[in-house]
Amino acid sequence: MIRLTFHAKLWVITGIAVLGIVGFLLWRYQIAPTEPGYENYKWVDTKYAGIRTKVVQRSTANNTAIIEYIETGNKPIDTTINNKVDDLVASFQKDSDELTRLFGGKAEQNISYQIVRNTPTHLSVVLTATQQAPSSHPEHQTAYWTFSKITGRAVTLDEIFGQANRDGIPRLEHLVRTAIDAKLRANHSSTTMDIANEFLASQPLSSFLTADAASLRFDFAQGEVGAESDGDISVTIPTDTLQLFLQTPTARQLFTVSPVSNAPVFAAADAKADCRQKKCIALTFDDGPSQLTAGLLDQLAQKKAHATFFIIGSLSARRASTIQRQAREGHTVANHTWSHTSMTKLSVIAMEKEIIATNQALEKITGTKPSYLRPPNAAINKNIYAALAAQNMTGVLWSVDTRDWADKDATIIYNRVVASARPGAIVVLHDIHRPTIEAVPRIIDTLSKQGYVFVSLDELFGKNVRPGQIVYKAA
Ligand code: ZN
Repeated sequence: MIRLTFHAKLWVITGIAVLGIVGFLLWRYQIAPTEPGYENYKWVDTKYAGIRTKVVQRSTANNTAIIEYIETGNKPIDTTINNKVDDLVASFQKDSDELTRLFGGKAEQNISYQIVRNTPTHLSVVLTATQQAPSSHPEHQTAYWTFSKITGRAVTLDEIFGQANRDGIPRLEHLVRTAIDAKLRANHSSTTMDIANEFLASQPLSSFLTADAASLRFDFAQGEVGAESDGDISVTIPTDTLQLFLQTPTARQLFTVSPVSNAPVFAAADAKADCRQKKCIALTFDDGPSQLTAGLLDQLAQKKAHATFFIIGSLSARRASTIQRQAREGHTVANHTWSHTSMTKLSVIAMEKEIIATNQALEKITGTKPSYLRPPNAAINKNIYAALAAQNMTGVLWSVDTRDWADKDATIIYNRVVASARPGAIVVLHDIHRPTIEAVPRIIDTLSKQGYVFVSLDELFGKNVRPGQIVYKAA
């Protein structure tokens, strides 16, 4: 028989008492209740080297959940994504406990991630969660990011647009709204754009997905931008019409970017001002001529301001006398293609046809072959440079975006130009909207007082600056 000392006996008695109390508490508080709870996990490799998934299955009395956690090996990235997963899990636990108490039954949650794009520098990931509570429809939630693997942080739209964000983000938002609208129409949705507009107003676009070097993607969960019956809505925005705004190093790492540059001012001998000395600004008008153009020419003549007109070739024959007058009164007559199709949608041959047909029509009217071209919708790609070089022309975008086509309001248009005016700026306007024409005299009056001189592109750059390139302002 083993002989225990007094102290040892005391320890044994204490140990038995503690076990007894713990046992009683476990029994009393039903830690092992009618349904057994469990949690297990396994690791799964993805098709991406170094990225694996921890799949956790969890079951409690009220719910079951299958959850994917990502492990990329990049701590900050994993933390951001998995914290979001934990938030979704926590809110589901709360909801399911409540719903089970009210309705009985067991709720289920499924959380999964998808890698949309994996490059040496960036990782684009979307997280999708579905929860199916007892006696209710499944609910969807999404979250997405494009991470820099170098900083571990999610890249924002502000970062990819840089200083162009003021114009780039509203333009992107317009494209996103248009794409959502198209989806709702294709679905014969029961809702209007009101839901989308409200959602985008409360949660402005900031994070994004990218599936390839030529597009941005935004995923909206069920009910966010459409009716519940529309389901999730994902929109892909090609970057061809956003090139002007994607000229940052971050954007160049993520996307194929067609370069735009500033160009030196040229002191044309016959110019009304030497733009190396004076504060020159170039107003440019696209998509005309229209029935409003003659009135605009009257205003410009009265204020002794020169401008540039990017003419749609197919409209030129009808308004040949307006175009003649533009040339005669010191404005630059320029090419806005024949049919105003985004040139990125055209073959090289079709692209050249659009340019040449318009040049020929305008030369017939004015006697001068245009040297400047504005690509419709600002859509550019690498093919355009060769087409421009072949025609000895320069592409021109802009540095001041009035968005007069979106907000047809003279005061807003006036305000945008005055706020953004800088020496060498190129301002885009459209001589097909009445509010634009109304804004012009006010713009000229205010900026003239600030010492600005209104010049044509021929005066700002000379007859032809940098053929084969695309410029957006003078510097
Ligand atoms: Zn246009």
